[in-house]
Amino acid sequence: MIKAKKSLGQNFLIDKNILKKIVNSTKIENKSILEIGPGTGNLTSYILSQKPREITVIEKDSNLIKYLRDIFGEKINIINKDILKVDETLLSKEKLTVFGNLPYNISTEILCKWILSLKDNFWFDYLILMFQKEVADRIISKSNSTNYGRISILANWKLKIKKICDIKPSSFSPRPKIDSSLLIFTPKYNFYKINAHNLEFITRTFFSHRRKMLKKPYNKIFNGNLDISKKYKIDLNLRPQNLDFDTYYKLTKEYENLIK
Ligand code: SAH
Repeated sequence: MIKAKKSLGQNFLIDKNILKKIVNSTKIENKSILEIGPGTGNLTSYILSQKPREITVIEKDSNLIKYLRDIFGEKINIINKDILKVDETLLSKEKLTVFGNLPYNISTEILCKWILSLKDNFWFDYLILMFQKEVADRIISKSNSTNYGRISILANWKLKIKKICDIKPSSFSPRPKIDSSLLIFTPKYNFYKINAHNLEFITRTFFSHRRKMLKKPYNKIFNGNLDISKKYKIDLNLRPQNLDFDTYYKLTKEYENLIK
């Protein structure tokens, strides 16, 4: 028996219906698969049953490596590393389908890292990742809702996002304290050509005071020049959550023109 390590966020999926739902969320047959945080291989078995062309797993816990090798032998490529330290673009020549039931904090960190480092050529065609439900709700939310914020704007910039399902603590062993959600991300090839760090700067400035009017952060960024707010018909008495995705991308573009 493998004893779950709390420090590595080990909550193993044991619910067969959920495992089936995960592998049915996208086509696996003949695809190159990357699984991050395979743990004891519960999801790995389900993925293998769908006949992928190849599967690589990245697991940080060295104690699990021998265990995985004993079960799966040569059927999987195993990399014993921290996913945050891997250059994912070097893993395969094919576009990858990625599955990850990682610790919640790592899911968010890796998603942001990937979005920030993405070039025009996407190295994946599907990302299927588990999040704490509350964070997933923020990632998928649209303007004019209380959950809308920096991570929704960043994620929706380059990715189409859909929720596959919510997952109860009882589907895991040991049980986590909170609900989870599984999201599926696919590339948006026609995303706004802006710099990721500028987009981060713009959203950070606008969302530094969620409840305050747009006036102050706007004036800070555009030095009190109202031309851009007029051009996009932005009412500066609104709050940051009232501006839709596109407006944030356009404002970033205008900011880039200004500092060029
Ligand atoms: N996917 C499995 C295990 C989930 S538990 C299942 O659903 O049953 C999360 C797994 O991620 C654990 O095996 C843990 O060791 C691994 N992990 C945690 N941090 C990691 C990191 N930074 N890089 C790679 N794997 C990590």
